Amino acid sequence: DYGLSEADPEVRSIIDKEKNRQFKSLELIASENFTSRAVMEAVGSCLTNKYSEGLPGKRYYGGNEYIDELEVLCQERALEAFGLDGKKWGVNVQPLSGSPANFEVYTAILNPHDRIMGLDLPHGGHLSHGFMTPKRRVSGTSIYFESMPYRLDESTGLVDYDMLEKTAILFRPKLIIAGASAYPRDFDYPRMRKIADDVGAFLMMDMAHISGLVAASVVVNPFEYCDIVTTTTHKSLRGPRGGMIFFKKDPVLGVDLESAINNAVFPGLQGGPHNHTIGGLAVCLKHVKSPEFKAYQNKVVSNCRALASRLMELGYKLVSGGSDNHLVLVDLRPLGIDGARAEKILDMASITLNKNSVPGDKSALVPGGIRIGTPAMTTRGFSENEFMSVADFIHEGVQITLEAKKAVSGSKLQDFMKFVTSPDFPLIERVSD
Ligand code: PLP
Repeated sequence: DYGLSEADPEVRSIIDKEKNRQFKSLELIASENFTSRAVMEAVGSCLTNKYSEGLPGKRYYGGNEYIDELEVLCQERALEAFGLDGKKWGVNVQPLSGSPANFEVYTAILNPHDRIMGLDLPHGGHLSHGFMTPKRRVSGTSIYFESMPYRLDESTGLVDYDMLEKTAILFRPKLIIAGASAYPRDFDYPRMRKIADDVGAFLMMDMAHISGLVAASVVVNPFEYCDIVTTTTHKSLRGPRGGMIFFKKDPVLGVDLESAINNAVFPGLQGGPHNHTIGGLAVCLKHVKSPEFKAYQNKVVSNCRALASRLMELGYKLVSGGSDNHLVLVDLRPLGIDGARAEKILDMASITLNKNSVPGDKSALVPGGIRIGTPAMTTRGFSENEFMSVADFIHEGVQITLEAKKAVSGSKLQDFMKFVTSPDFPLIERVSD
């Protein structure tokens, strides 16, 4: 029985390089975080060896007494973390990640080709909420269900609830999905609840990005308005890579959500749960109740406000004019550059963030904005002052992007990438500083 260094030095070395990259860079991807050593210990444990298809007490394999104990503990902690009464709400902690969790909900409550409405991907929604282009149904959700996305009001950068309502009345969706991957504001859940009730639809919230903020009560609580809430566990919640589905225990629109969702997870779409992940999740959820966790989530939001205000001071246009949560979306189009070029230059300077569509964009590959999130660097101890410096560094990177763009002949992204990665790139020293 060898350790990793002896058994596989090649993989060991890749992991070491990745660890070094994570430590040396400014990690600003809004969906990423650094989980704790305790969580990683559980994820890297013997729990990975065990098969346990089914739910606690109702397994298809023997030898599950400790796995049952673990999953029940994880469920109890999940309900407690979000202040939920176990008589009214249940939870399934087995989804392998966020996209499977969402598809499991759809499988549970919809028939193939039933209609759904989620926020459009170019306006901040997630692929799994039903994305398609005029030419192609991209996501499995849009292949198996009929998707009519709702969008932002481009003049305000906020969800266009009036249009959502009008469309819902015509389209009659069976499910309306709140939640996003790149939306810096809270959703108007009371308004969405009313629209869902008026057209007889379920209301689901995918709180993947903000579940840590919800647990710490620093944003509006979706559980007060929604029938089903899904989440990933590895973003602001700071747990292992996984997913959860919360559901109301009383029937909704005549559907027993508990059995429909549990059956959709297994045997519907999954086999054996990843018990090592459930172990790591239980550890993460225990920490959610601590004062440090609440302080951390408050800091994520205040850091984001500091970042937003410094960027605006520097003249940047932010989608919706600011942020209520952990991310900002910067519209670079007024400067004449795009998110792909800025992402590349910033990446070369070890500032990791992502290009992102902004309302009105034509291309998803060369979108007009960048998304910047505060959870990961807040975990590493950054405060408002550091995030103001982060804004200044990003500004410097954007200036270099502008200069590089001017220096490249032609407007092709490919030419730009080739130029800035070649040794002749005259600004390389400034970037690597
Ligand atoms: N839902 C939202 C809102 C997300 O932002 C993401 C991922 O970024 C997901 C779901 C999908 O999660 P996963 O990548 O774990 O499948």
